[in-house]
Amino acid sequence: MHNMEIRYPEADLHCHTTASDGLLTPWELVRNAADLKLKAIGITDHDTISGWDEAEKAGRIFGVDIIKGVELNTDWSGVEVHILGYEIDPRKTVLQEKLRELREARQIRIFKMIKKLQELGIPISKSEVEEGSRGESIGRPHIAQILVEKGIVRSQGEAFDRFLVPGAPAFVPRMKITPEEGIRLIRQGGGVAVLAHPGIHSVEKGLPQWVKAGLQGIEVSHSEHSPAQEIKYKELAKKYGLLMTGGSDFHGEDRKPGVSLGKWGTSYNVVEELKKLAQMQHV
Ligand SMILES: [Zn+2]
Ligand SMILES: [Zn+2]
Repeated sequence: MHNMEIRYPEADLHCHTTASDGLLTPWELVRNAADLKLKAIGITDHDTISGWDEAEKAGRIFGVDIIKGVELNTDWSGVEVHILGYEIDPRKTVLQEKLRELREARQIRIFKMIKKLQELGIPISKSEVEEGSRGESIGRPHIAQILVEKGIVRSQGEAFDRFLVPGAPAFVPRMKITPEEGIRLIRQGGGVAVLAHPGIHSVEKGLPQWVKAGLQGIEVSHSEHSPAQEIKYKELAKKYGLLMTGGSDFHGEDRKPGVSLGKWGTSYNVVEELKKLAQMQHV
């Protein structure tokens, strides 16, 4: 019989904050991690590193080791593949520059969609959407919200279906990078490249080519992995000589119910391995 006692890992290497789509500020996240007696957490916001500074300040105060990370959204012939980068060298700016470029491209894309809506005769302006985003990274949900507020559609879902999904009249595709590009960017930035939650879209077929491109780790423990998947990815990690990482993919309990901080993760050894790998690249 299994005993039902939950053993919490020492490190949760996959956490989102308000710097992307998480509900807690970096400060709150680190304080919660300290309450849970986590030794380390990875700050892995989507396509941004803007949560690092606050997290590091909090980490020094609350005694939590902060792993400076990022989660890159990449496209593998229509399949979404997420690449985690850890312990990126802040002195190397290649990744930061690319992130800025992607952010600008995202904004231009949204403006193009607004223009298409205007051409369809819908009264919507850039400034309305920008105001509605309240400083968050601007996206399709902000357009959808304005369409709801104006009574043009009844729900955000309807706004997406009628106007904002591929094939709909106001859709503009986003600028995408491939998994290989994501891996290279992280490596050029001095970081360790890790395949995030391979089980969500079962993307393990890509492993040989990604290892060739410089992939160094694979996320084995994750809130959306089944025990059978964990076993499978452990075996693949051994086969390809990859570091086994883990994390909850915490976004705040209200955003992802049941996904608690620190419930998935790794031992502190893995943190040390990550640091060692990164140090060899910080030259
Ligand atoms: Zn992800
Ligand atoms: Zn994530």
